[in-house]
This record gives sequence, C-alpha cells and structure tokens, in this order.
Amino acid sequence: MSLNSLNVDQGSVDSELIERAEPDFSRMDFSIRDWNLSRFSSIPFFLIHIAVIAVPFLVRIPLWTLWPISIFYFIGMFAVTGGYHRYFSHRTYKTSRGFQFALAFLAQATGQKGVLWWAAHHRHHHRHSDLPTDIHSPVKKGFWWSHWGWILSKDQDATRFDLVRDLARYGELRWLNKFYYVPSLSVLVLCCVAWGYVGLFVAATSVVLLWHGTFTINSLCHVFGTQRYKSYDTSRNNLWLALLTLGEGWHNNHHTYMHSTRQGFFWGEIDITYGILKILESLGLVWQLREPPLEKLNSRRL
Ligand SMILES: [Zn+2]
Ligand SMILES: [Zn+2]
Repeated sequence: MSLNSLNVDQGSVDSELIERAEPDFSRMDFSIRDWNLSRFSSIPFFLIHIAVIAVPFLVRIPLWTLWPISIFYFIGMFAVTGGYHRYFSHRTYKTSRGFQFALAFLAQATGQKGVLWWAAHHRHHHRHSDLPTDIHSPVKKGFWWSHWGWILSKDQDATRFDLVRDLARYGELRWLNKFYYVPSLSVLVLCCVAWGYVGLFVAATSVVLLWHGTFTINSLCHVFGTQRYKSYDTSRNNLWLALLTLGEGWHNNHHTYMHSTRQGFFWGEIDITYGILKILESLGLVWQLREPPLEKLNSRRL
C-alpha cells in the first residue's frame, strides 16, 4: 500500500491527515477535449445561466426579489456546508433520521445532484486531493474544470456507492439520490405558485448563485489564500470565501482536521455554519459536534 492510500476518509475512519510522499503540483496535460461533457447536464446548466442574465433585461423584476434570493442562498448554503459537507461527507456530528432527511432534501434543492453522489465525490477528493486522480484539482487540471467542468462530465455521473456504504443503508437517502431533481423541482413549483414568473426567476437565480458559491471552494480555495498547516495538498484558508460560503473558506484547516465540525479554528476565523449548528445543538436537533484536536492545533503548522 502506498503512502497516498493510507488513512482515507470514509466517513467512519478516525484518522485525520492523509500522509503522503512529497507532492507534485505540476499541471497535467488535461484539456476540454478530455472533459466528456454530458449534454443532459450541460444544456440545462447553461440555459439557466442565460435565462438568469437575460430575464431582467426583458421583463421587469421587482427589487423585493432580492430578499427571497438572499434567504434561499443562506438556507441553501447552510444545507450544503452543514449538511452535504460536514454531516454526510464527514459525519462530524450526529442527528436524528428525520433531520438527516430534512438536511438531504434541502441540500438537494440547491441543484447539486444527489446526497450520496455529493458525499462520495467529496470523500474521493480528500483521499486523492491534488493527485492526478483528484476529480477536481485546479492545480492538476485547471480552473474551469475544477469549477464546473467535472460536475457536468459523463465520467462523474455515477454515484460511487462503495465510498458511502454508511449512508446507503438508509432507503430514503437512496430514494432521494435516485430522484435527485425532486427537491429542486419542488422549490421551483412552489416559487411559481407563490410569485408567478418572478418566482421562476427567484428560484433559478438562487440556484445559480449557490452553484458558484459552492464551486469556489474546489476551484479558488486550492489556489488563493494562506496555508497554516502542512496538509500535503494546495488547500488554503481564505476569509472572503469563508464569508461567501458560511465558513467553508477555512479549507486548509479542514483538509488537515477533516473530522472537526468547526472549520474556523482561531479568533477571527468566522464560521457561520458552525454557529448555526451550535444553535441547532441547543435546540436538541443535532448533537456530538466535534472539535479540532485542541492539543494538536499548532503541531502541523508550516
Ligand atoms: Zn471536506
Ligand atoms: Zn479541497
């Protein structure tokens, strides 16, 4: 077994850091000809972008729509960071089966495919981070691929069930994963019923903003920012991306101690998702939130 495959994060393994030989961060020979884009995913993806940009020039969109768009962004981003990422991918805290379903449903409403698909791809990212086998490394395969290319590629369509056996035990999560479009379509219909065509614009705009907010962690947070820890990859800490994503910008912290619920480790490292989870803990909805290993916080500093 090579060093690269030791201590992998499968959601139930306690070890934190993936120890590696000295990494090679040179760019691979990987161009758009290698992307193998899926028309089924790409056409709606680009049509929604065009619609969101063009509609305000064609019809009057009232200013009040900024409110529901902001609220949907906030709730959706929390569902992605507190749900998809810190709960389903890393199992950093515990919750009930009902709240687990609610988190998965809300996260899927952001149009980022199914809960098992997301968690499996993310676990794979930690296991292979910035190696040639990393699905979305910007340093190995470029910005555009790591931002949105990989998610639209036919090669990444399948859910790797072997990486999420702990989650696939739940029939309701398998069902959601299979019919991944149900939550986002439900939100779309509800918005349409409430506000007509303006509702369509609200739902589509929030989804586009949530896509790019989330994607920045894969594309920018491995390039821009500072590195506190020797994490054997290019992950960075970036305040601006932490604000945009409610706390995910402390990505170097996270790659080093991935089983911690809290990702902002020190004073000033704002982690809104962690704050919301603490409120949910006080309400009894989640429990056993994990802290970073305090005695080790300074031990792997660069
Ligand atoms: Zn992670
Ligand atoms: Zn990463």
